[in-house]
Formats: sequence, C-alpha cells, structure tokens
Amino acid sequence: MNSTFVSLTKQGAALLTVATLLAACGSTPAGSGGASSAPASAAVSASLAPSASATPTPAGSPSAAVSIAPGASAATPTPSPSPAAKLYRLNKNYDVVPIGPNGNKKVVLLTFDDGPKDKTMVDSLLGTLGKHKAKAIFFVLGSKVKQNPDLLKQIYASGHTIGNHTWSHSQLNKLSDAQGDEEFDSTQRIIRETIGITPVFFRPPNGISTDHLNERYPKEHVLRMNWSNGSLDWADNQHKPAGVIQSVLDQLHSGSNILMHELAWTTEALDELLTKLEALGYGYVDPATIETP
Ligand SMILES: [Zn+2]
Repeated sequence: MNSTFVSLTKQGAALLTVATLLAACGSTPAGSGGASSAPASAAVSASLAPSASATPTPAGSPSAAVSIAPGASAATPTPSPSPAAKLYRLNKNYDVVPIGPNGNKKVVLLTFDDGPKDKTMVDSLLGTLGKHKAKAIFFVLGSKVKQNPDLLKQIYASGHTIGNHTWSHSQLNKLSDAQGDEEFDSTQRIIRETIGITPVFFRPPNGISTDHLNERYPKEHVLRMNWSNGSLDWADNQHKPAGVIQSVLDQLHSGSNILMHELAWTTEALDELLTKLEALGYGYVDPATIETP
C-alpha cells in the first residue's frame, strides 16, 4: 500500500462505510478493527469505490459523516431518500437482513427516537456517530420538530435518515382513524417543510399501529418499523449508561434493530457501546440502503 493510497483512504474514510456496504462483502464489516480501522478492509472498499478518489472529503472532523452529504450533492441534490443501492430489507421481526446472498449479516441498525429536543445531546450523538462512521435513523416527533427545527436540520445535514414517529407520541390504537391520520400526516408535513424530504420510515409509538394506518404505509411508500433490540433506556436503564450497553449486548444478534432515545444516559453510553459492537465485528447499516415499499 503506497502513501498516496493511504492518504486517499484517510480522506475517504467517511465514504468507506458506504463503500463497504456497497461492496456487500461478508468478510469486511464496516467499522471493524477499532482505532486502527482494518487497512485490508479499507483497501478492498476503496478499490471498489472509484468515487472515493473523485470526491475527497475533509478529514479530521469528529463529525466526518457530515461531509458525505455535500460530497454526494454533486451528483444528487438531496442526500435522502437517496438513490443508494438497496442492500437490506426488514424481516418480520424487524431485523435488518441482507437482500443478496453475499450481503454482510453481521450488522446492526441504530435508531434514536423522540427528539429532537436538546442541542447538547444532539451535538454529542452526532459527534459520536461521526467518530464511528455510523449512520442512524432519528425517529422524530412532529411536535419536537416544531420546537426545534434547527436541530432537525442539523441531524439531517449530518447525513442521517429522518423517520416519522407521530406528532405527539400518542398511542395510535387509542385514537380515531382520523386522529391517527393527522398524527402521521402532520409529522410528514412538518419534516418536509423543514428539510425538504418526506420520510420513508415510520415507527408507531410503543410499536403499536392500527389496521387503518397499516394499509396506508405501503401505498405511500413508507416502511413501518418497530425494533428488535431494545436498550431499555426508557425503562429499567434510565440514568444507567452501563445498563443501556449491557441490555443491547444481551440481545445482540445479526441484524439487530436497536432502539435508543435522545436521552442523557444513552448519549453518555453511545461511544462505549459502538466500540464494543465494533470489537465484536459488527458494522452499521446505512438506513439509506434499506429497501422501502
Ligand atoms: Zn417513542
């Protein structure tokens, strides 16, 4: 490996996660190898991604992922929903599974619900995700977007995917169909008005939907998504970063769809959690590569 290549690899580091996923190579989980970041894996990814040399991105920022959106914007005006190749789908258990026979099974999907609420927590979450070159879905509440539009813009500009989690976090089966429609529609609308895209992922509060809305999602090209690995940061692990980490590890399996929230103890736990996942060989699914209806 010559020095030019090493430099390229460093500069294109933010692209490597994507490139590795695009390569869909089971032997090169994205983000594996910890701090030294597996040069062999990087070499494979970079060689498969000619765009890595064509679109150098600023290196050294703790939120390197931010650079992906502007870099990609040369070819695609909006980073999400992007025309990224679809490499994964959800199964009935809400696990993320590779579409192709050679896809990387040892992956997790990171999701953060109930924000955007707090600038300090958002800054920390985005910084940690950027450090680990991980993309996540932020399932936001319309009511919180109304209060904190700039936080939504910040999350989106960092290259993450925005999902709909209703306006008020009301449990949908306790509402009329019309009220349920309004929870969904008003949130789609305010997200569209704030960042210019319409979400393709929806997570009903408490994972409970209705027949009425279940019929709507596929017609409107929206994927309803619960989770398959709960951090319990909203329950037994409140104020317990170590508990958040342990709960995720206890339930860890290939394709884990990990439910977390914008909460202080989760924010505190995230760096160590991701480091442990990587040490176990797990990579991160870019939500943009998940198939939607
Ligand atoms: Zn929630």
